[in-house]
Amino acid sequence: MTGSLFVISGPSGVGKASVLKVLLTKCSDLFYSISMTTRAPRQTPQGTVEENGVDYFFVSRSEFERMAAQSEFLEWAEFNGNCYGTPRVYVEELLKAGKSVVLEVETKGAGQVRAQMPEAKLIFLVPPSMEELQDRLRGRNTENEAEIAMRYAIAKEEMETAVLYDYQVVNDVVEKAADQIKDIIDVVTLSKSS
Ligand code: 5GP
Repeated sequence: MTGSLFVISGPSGVGKASVLKVLLTKCSDLFYSISMTTRAPRQTPQGTVEENGVDYFFVSRSEFERMAAQSEFLEWAEFNGNCYGTPRVYVEELLKAGKSVVLEVETKGAGQVRAQMPEAKLIFLVPPSMEELQDRLRGRNTENEAEIAMRYAIAKEEMETAVLYDYQVVNDVVEKAADQIKDIIDVVTLSKSS
């Protein structure tokens, strides 16, 4: 039996990385697919710098374009001037081996996954309010004002796609949101194996 694929999206600043981090500690048999990006590594809210092969695989635009041309991405999209993509082989091999995999992608990429793998479960992480989202974007101190404004504008557009997802989870408290996503994953994987 093939494994299950879960996709998590949500506007910039909603806390996807924090929720995923907690989720992965709760689901020891869930594999996270590290994305590729042409964006430069940035400071984390903890004050360290993102690491290659941990947070992302950081590649040049020419390398990214070569991979895209050779269909090496399961999905990819441009977001705020940079490219982001999910390397296909890693995900496909894990699924074939019966493992569950989680991706964190923006909304256009989620649509591409749905088109190719209709059985994938799409989860949208929602902020408690748009004011709170703006506060979180500012509070993480990882982008300048112009970047924050761009990300907030994209966030408003992304929020309109939330209804297309199978599940919406409000990220009010990280631990609670991670628990809710774990419940979704448990139900989906259990119903598949019974
Ligand atoms: P950030 O620059 O904040 O790390 O990411 C910007 C956006 O790109 C976020 O919405 C994030 O979920 C999304 N993203 C990260 N990895 C991927 C990926 O592999 N594919 C796509 N389509 N989006 C991604």
